[in-house]
Amino acid sequence: MKNLITGGAGFIGSHLAEALLKQKEEVVVVDDLSTGRMDNINHLRKEKGFSYHIDTIMNEHLMKRLTQKSDVIFHLAAAVGVKYIIDNPLKSIETNVKGTEMVFKLADRAGKKKVILASTSEIYGKDRPGKRVFKEEDDRLLGSTSISRWSYSCTKALDEFLALAYRRERGLPVIIARFFNTCGPRQTGRYGMVVPRFIKQAIDNRPITVYGDGKQTRCFTDVQDTVKAVILLSKNPNAIGEAFNIGNPDNKITINALAKRAKSLAGSKSRIKHVPYEKVYEKGFEDMRHREPDISKLKQITGFVPETDMNHMLSRIVGYLKSRG
Ligand code: UDP
Repeated sequence: MKNLITGGAGFIGSHLAEALLKQKEEVVVVDDLSTGRMDNINHLRKEKGFSYHIDTIMNEHLMKRLTQKSDVIFHLAAAVGVKYIIDNPLKSIETNVKGTEMVFKLADRAGKKKVILASTSEIYGKDRPGKRVFKEEDDRLLGSTSISRWSYSCTKALDEFLALAYRRERGLPVIIARFFNTCGPRQTGRYGMVVPRFIKQAIDNRPITVYGDGKQTRCFTDVQDTVKAVILLSKNPNAIGEAFNIGNPDNKITINALAKRAKSLAGSKSRIKHVPYEKVYEKGFEDMRHREPDISKLKQITGFVPETDMNHMLSRIVGYLKSRG
C-alpha cells in the first residue's frame, strides 16, 4: 500500500509513518514543519519505502501529484494544541478548513482515494451536568465565538461535515478518527499539551504548573495505541463513512495526580504550583472538567483494545525528554 500522511513530521504522524513502514508499506510525508519537526522523521529517511516533502498542503500541484500516486491518505496536518489555537486563530482556521477542503477535493478527483481524517475530542465541546463519557453521536455544546478555543472545535466539525458530505454526494471513502489526549515521545509541550509540559518541568526541577484546581480529569492515550487503532480502521471496510473515538478510558487521572506522577517518575524536586486559568489562557477561557471516550464502537468494529497503561506511557516520555536534554 502507498500511504500519504499529511502532517507526517508531527507527533502522531511520525509514529504512524513508523508503524506503516514496519508493516512494509510505502509512506510519503507532507509537512510544512509549522508544528512538526525534521527530528521526528530523520530516523526514517533511510528506510525503504519512505519519502517526504517539506511543503504546505495548500500546494495544490504537489498534493495533486502525491494523491494520484497514493492508495490511502491519512490527513493529520492541522493546527493543534489549545495554546497554539488561541495564539494563532487565523492560521488555525485557514489550515484546518482550506487545507482539508483541498485534501478531499484532490482525493475525490484522483479516483476516490480513501481519506482518514484526524479529528478530536474537542468536537464534543464543553461540560454539561452529569456528563463525562462521550459517544460518537452525542450532541456538541460550544461557547461563544469570542472565545477562540471553540474555533478549533468548529473547524474540526466542519472537516467532519465535509468528509461526510464527500461520502454522501461523491461516494468518497472517508473515515473520521477522534483522538482523545494522545501522548508519547516526540510530543512537545510548546503548544500547551499537559503531559510533555509536566514531565519537562519535572526533569528541569521547575514548578509543575497545574491550571485551575487540578481536579479536572482526562484519559491519556499512548500514541502507539492511537496509531494501532488508526491503522485498524483504515483497513476495515465497515469503518467507511463513520466517526470513531480513539482513546484509553482506563488511563483516567486528575491533573493534580498527573503532576505528582510526573514528579515521582522523573525523580524530581519540583514543587507543584496551581495557576489560575486567566493567567495562562484568554479571558473567558473555559476548561473541560471531565472528558472520557466511549470506545465501544471502535472495539466492536476493529476488536481494538488499548494496551499501554499510564506509568508505562509516562516513563517512556520521561526517557525521551531526558535523552533530548
Ligand atoms: N493543563 C495544566 N497545566 C499545563 C497544561 C495544561 O494543568 O501546563 C491542564 C489543562 O488546563 C487541562 C488539562 O491539563 O485541564 C489537559 O490539557 P491539554 O491542553 O493537554 O488537553 P485538553 O485540554 O485539550 O484536554
